[in-house]
Amino acid sequence: MGKQFRKGTDLIKQSAENKGGKRKFTRNIYWKPGDVKTIAFLTAAEEIPKVRLHQMVRIPDDRFESGIRYETFLCKKDPSMSDESGGECELCDRVEHDAVERFVALAVELEPIKEGKRVTGLEVMHDTVTKDDGEEVKYPRWGIIIQASKNFFSYFAAYAESQGDIREVAWTIEREGGSTDTKYHQYIVTNGPRVVELPDLSEMMENIPALEDLLEEMGSEEKYAQVAELDPGSQPSFGGNKKPELAGVPSGDRADKFAEIRQVIEGY
Ligand SMILES: [Zn+2]
Repeated sequence: MGKQFRKGTDLIKQSAENKGGKRKFTRNIYWKPGDVKTIAFLTAAEEIPKVRLHQMVRIPDDRFESGIRYETFLCKKDPSMSDESGGECELCDRVEHDAVERFVALAVELEPIKEGKRVTGLEVMHDTVTKDDGEEVKYPRWGIIIQASKNFFSYFAAYAESQGDIREVAWTIEREGGSTDTKYHQYIVTNGPRVVELPDLSEMMENIPALEDLLEEMGSEEKYAQVAELDPGSQPSFGGNKKPELAGVPSGDRADKFAEIRQVIEGY
């Protein structure tokens, strides 16, 4: 009898995911009212795509006490998807989930090292996960920031235009208020008059997928397989009285840029 090798795509995927501290899911970096977080952007302001998203899609899942998990999908009416989808989106058209236009950027959460009020250094924050065999694995706390232009990204776009690359400095961002009165306050992390230097992110960057790959995954057939069982009307409306803008497909340079990037990826 021949040797029994351990085989299977699951095994391959597992190994790929465990190698180099790669993580199995993409964290969403967001602020609850009152939250203060320090981050470094990993995406330049000019590269931040505008995309049409289905956020907080409710998927039945018995593993959670609430019986629901939430997922974010790239809407198939997004211009980057329209060639393959023909402008049809199951979430929009059948499930009647409201899509929204958002800007997305990769970032990593940082821990300020303080002496009194002053920040003297910055470290990458990590999550520790204990695997089945008891081994502890540390994952850098990188993730995707999904926000509107109006109260979040417009500031960083303006900074990039007048001051330079938003990735060169660390930002402390504070959320004030909730729902419609939400304001974000942001400032560069300084120690008195001096800017606090970023920690070395180069090693971490090697294990972070490209933003466009993450977005592509959010609109993939594999991901959309989860939508098949969702019933029309099973999703609450987040837009208040606002109807999703049917003609509100992303426009402008950033959407074009994103469509361009996706075309390149699809060529592989
Ligand atoms: Zn859609």
